[in-house]
Amino acid sequence: MQINYLIIGQGLAGTLLAKELLATNESFLIIDAFKESTSTKVAAGMYNPISGKRMVKSWNADELLRDTFEAYLSLEKLLDCKLLFKQNIYQLFGSVKEQNDLSSRMDNEDFSKHVNLFPAKEPNLNDAFGAFEIKETGWVYTRLLIEKMRAFLIEKSNLIDEKFDYNLLENIAGNWHFKNIVAKHVIFCEGYENIHNPFFNYLPFVLCKGEVFTIKCNDIAKDKIIKKGIYMVHLHDNIYKVGATYEWNDLTEKTSEQGKAFLIEKLNDILNCEYEIINHEANIRPTTKDRKAIIGEHHEHKNMFILNGLGTKGVMHAPYLAKQLLANIILGNEIEKEINIKRFYK
Ligand SMILES: Cc1cc2nc3c(=O)[nH]c(=O)nc-3n(C[C@H](O)[C@H](O)[C@H](O)COP(=O)(O)OP(=O)(O)OC[C@H]3O[C@@H](n4cnc5c(N)ncnc54)[C@H](O)[C@@H]3O)c2cc1C
Repeated sequence: MQINYLIIGQGLAGTLLAKELLATNESFLIIDAFKESTSTKVAAGMYNPISGKRMVKSWNADELLRDTFEAYLSLEKLLDCKLLFKQNIYQLFGSVKEQNDLSSRMDNEDFSKHVNLFPAKEPNLNDAFGAFEIKETGWVYTRLLIEKMRAFLIEKSNLIDEKFDYNLLENIAGNWHFKNIVAKHVIFCEGYENIHNPFFNYLPFVLCKGEVFTIKCNDIAKDKIIKKGIYMVHLHDNIYKVGATYEWNDLTEKTSEQGKAFLIEKLNDILNCEYEIINHEANIRPTTKDRKAIIGEHHEHKNMFILNGLGTKGVMHAPYLAKQLLANIILGNEIEKEINIKRFYK
């Protein structure tokens, strides 16, 4: 089989690359080993142009948002399902100091255009210090996206379910050979499992485990993401995803008692009503030392690429990164330095 692109992994990275390649009619095959739990599948799927405890506007936020909307809306059409949910974040203040800090920043128009200081009160929340809203936020139903896209790609013979064996990849006369496949380019998108990739495992990943609950709660807002230390994203009916923890030492995919205790403590701090925990999941975020993604060509192996390091913000970054990597491969456009693998070339 002769193809243009061989892609390893169908998380958010592989999925958004496939979306771009389908639009250009370039031939490709994804090799992905099915797993019930992956980073993309357990993620809450939120996107938010304002990030971190210090609440600063993220890197290239406006461009990233534009690509986020374009990509997931077009995937909705392709896969005939609802994936993108535009919802404000209803963030509870934890103290008077937090209120004052935020008010003092409202003079900055680029920041304040994303903030509503006086939202209507939501029921059954511990809101002693009030709340504000962040606009142009929302979430993507990442598990559904992966499942639907996988079925679509299998149907079109663009995906096979297999564990990729790195030892069988060979470069012969400038092409990449893997079993009966001959590809011009190979792109690795294995998320945190890049640690097993002999070509790229030198890259400075600082992996971060996250745990989430799925809960049932009858008495709180359904049209907003609720946040205070943790977030609550309404999925359907009375079901919410709640997360997350950040853990750098235990890098197993198993849930833990500490993770459970943390999420319960935070939930009890937010909610003034009953809830029931119906699921508890864990997985590993592909975070990097400088908290930026890594895309580009291998320093020695021509036509071997990586799209990884999506970290805590894969939903908002994957569409932009996929476009930028393909523009680099197809048109020779230079990749922005902040996300370019060249920053780690030896
Ligand atoms: C608890 C939690 C909550 C999160 N919440 C959010 C959020 O709200 N918003 C947000 O933007 N991000 C969130 N993230 C981060 C987000 O999930 C990641 O940035 C993103 O999903 C990573 O996607 P990926 O494609 O790089 O990796 P993955 O999703 O891990 O996908 C990699 C794929 O490659 C396959 N694979 C790996 N190795 C091989 C191999 N050798 N052969 C074949 N297949 C292979 C795997 O099976 C998998 O299907 C969260 C993460 C966690 C853990």
